[in-house]
Amino acid sequence: MFKQRGVFHIVLVPTNTNTPLHDPIVDFDSLALDYPEHDTVVDLSSIELTESKKRPGFNLPSFRVNAPELQLIARLSLPLMSILYFATRSAAPLLVPLNVVILTCLFFLLYHLYLYRQTIRLGFIKKTMISANQLDIVTAHIAWLFDPAIPAPMMMLIVIAAIGNGIQHGFTAFRSILQTTALIAPLVFIIRSQLLGIHANSLAFLFLCTFFLIYAFFLIVRIDTIQAKSETRSTNLELNNYKLKQLGMALQKSEARYRNIFDNSSAAMVLIEDNMLISLVNSKFLALTKYSKSELYNKKRLSDLIYKDDLQRIRRFHAKRRKMGGTTPTEYECKMVDKQNNIKHVIIRFNITQWHERIMATIEDITSRKQAKSALQSSIKRLREAAARLTQSQKRYRNLFENTGTATILVEKNLRISMVNTKFAELTGFSKNDIAGKKRLSEFIERKSLYRIRRFHTKQKERGLPLPTEYECLFVDKARNLKHVVMKIYTPQEQETSIVSFFDITKRKKAEAALQEAHERLRLVSVIDELTQVANRRQFNEKLNTEWNRLKREGLPLSLIMCDVDCFKSYNDTYGHQYGDRCLRSISDALTKTVKRSIDLVARYGGEEFAIIMPNTDLYGALKVAESVRTAIEQLKIPNKASSVSGFITLSLGVSSMIPTQNLSSDVLIKDADNALYEAKDSGRNKVVQGKFNPS
Ligand code: GH3
Ligand code: MG
Ligand code: MG
Repeated sequence: MFKQRGVFHIVLVPTNTNTPLHDPIVDFDSLALDYPEHDTVVDLSSIELTESKKRPGFNLPSFRVNAPELQLIARLSLPLMSILYFATRSAAPLLVPLNVVILTCLFFLLYHLYLYRQTIRLGFIKKTMISANQLDIVTAHIAWLFDPAIPAPMMMLIVIAAIGNGIQHGFTAFRSILQTTALIAPLVFIIRSQLLGIHANSLAFLFLCTFFLIYAFFLIVRIDTIQAKSETRSTNLELNNYKLKQLGMALQKSEARYRNIFDNSSAAMVLIEDNMLISLVNSKFLALTKYSKSELYNKKRLSDLIYKDDLQRIRRFHAKRRKMGGTTPTEYECKMVDKQNNIKHVIIRFNITQWHERIMATIEDITSRKQAKSALQSSIKRLREAAARLTQSQKRYRNLFENTGTATILVEKNLRISMVNTKFAELTGFSKNDIAGKKRLSEFIERKSLYRIRRFHTKQKERGLPLPTEYECLFVDKARNLKHVVMKIYTPQEQETSIVSFFDITKRKKAEAALQEAHERLRLVSVIDELTQVANRRQFNEKLNTEWNRLKREGLPLSLIMCDVDCFKSYNDTYGHQYGDRCLRSISDALTKTVKRSIDLVARYGGEEFAIIMPNTDLYGALKVAESVRTAIEQLKIPNKASSVSGFITLSLGVSSMIPTQNLSSDVLIKDADNALYEAKDSGRNKVVQGKFNPS
């Protein structure tokens, strides 16, 4: 019935409403007192009742007197009495002489002594007892047979032997003696009647003896019955005593076991008598309530220790349950007040003990559990609030993240992307879900850029320098298109997550490239002659000035060759301007090929005139170059029918070389070379003439 347990509000046990009500707290009467049929503490059936197997002597309950010496005296009395009787009588014994009678009696006497010795040696044996009894009765009959008196007093020996043995050894012995008597006595009577005749006083004596025997028969039967009863009782008593001893031992063991459990139980335990007073508590209970045993035992009820409000609550609950005919619980959660008026939260569990009319209650202190629970509840509440705040702030940050206007992602330490905004998804061409938690940042960086960044990282780490937070690199989108991006990485302190933003600079990059190209084009246009693709006059001027100033500082020579195509007007006139232009291109190509030093510059000075600036070159070197140029043009063998010099296109060249000085300008050099050129024209064309300039 008490197997079903539960807390006050939940599980209830059936109520026995017939019993009167007395306890105010826990309506104990309403708890059905259902005692177990068997004592489960001490199981009597388990006690083995081993009866003593070694019973003294024989198993005949009628052989009662077990004193061999006493028996011997009684048994010896028969032959001794016979000897005394026959020896003292004046008349001789019947049938045999006195000596035979005495010898016979002595024989019997010795035989008794032998049987006594046997008994001492082997104990009481049935066979020995029977033969001793038979010897007694035979002795008595022989004494009667030989007795010459009328009536024969020796007949009394039969009665004495029968009754003596009967009383001493019980009915069985008595019966066997009677049986022997029934056989021998008639024989003796017949023999004596033949010898002495039948006398009235002898018959009367015979009847008297028979009467004694009959009386003794009933007496012995009665004694036996009483003795048998008393023996049974004593055996039972012995058994009971034995059982009790065993039971006591088992109880002692069990009690020690249970007392141990009771005393050392981790729960506070209390035993309540049927008058509801506390009769036993364990140390835990004392610790819980702070009372001493003397203050509790037979003075306090458990209800006295229950907090008043709880007590009323439980009473109301019980009243309600009773009204409904329901059940009352065996477990209560309530508050207890200790001696120092401290309140403790407890669970009281009731259990009917093995001892009738007593109730065992265990009390579990759940104060700390309660406190922990309430602490937990408040911390849960705080956590919830914090979580709510966090959710709000998270929303705010998510909103910010989403609407930052920049492609932004959150990247974990392993480069895995954990969060993506719409801008980034647009930049890649993937959906947000395809990226977040699935892709790594490295998958979006073009391979070369990635290697470059990695190499740079390794170097920076080796040097112990901080890593940059901004990178310009190529970005690969879903369609494998490359985009120029600036990637900005921000890692908040002590965090494993970085915020990475991307700025698409592809358009800017394209614009930049276009601008640069335009600039280049413009630059080229401004310094290159369009027709011949050699330096134009502007570049010539710049180069000449730069080199003039540089060589002025270094004190090294600067040479200039001025060339003019001979009779070009007539060439144009003969072949047309288009051929003239083509001719000029051929000449410029030949000039560029002939002048090999990269520092030298071939320029179109104007019309069909070319100039060659040769820094770090003296007059001698310049004249050599001029001569090889002249030869190169001649070798082109461009036909010019109208030439006054030869049938081909030729060049006239004027060469000037000087070390620039402070008081001179580059114009002097041009002038001198130009003069030399005119001199070459004047002196027949297709030749090289050196300048006349002499600074001194
Ligand atoms: P000289 O031997 O004395 O130098 O006689 P020339 O005919 O070469 O000299 P001139 O100065 O009288 O003629 C120069 C001619 O070069 C005039 C012009 O027709 C021609 N010329 C100048 N620039 C160009 C050009 O860019 N293209 C073409 N086809 N001809 C040009
Ligand atoms: Mg000219
Ligand atoms: Mg000319």
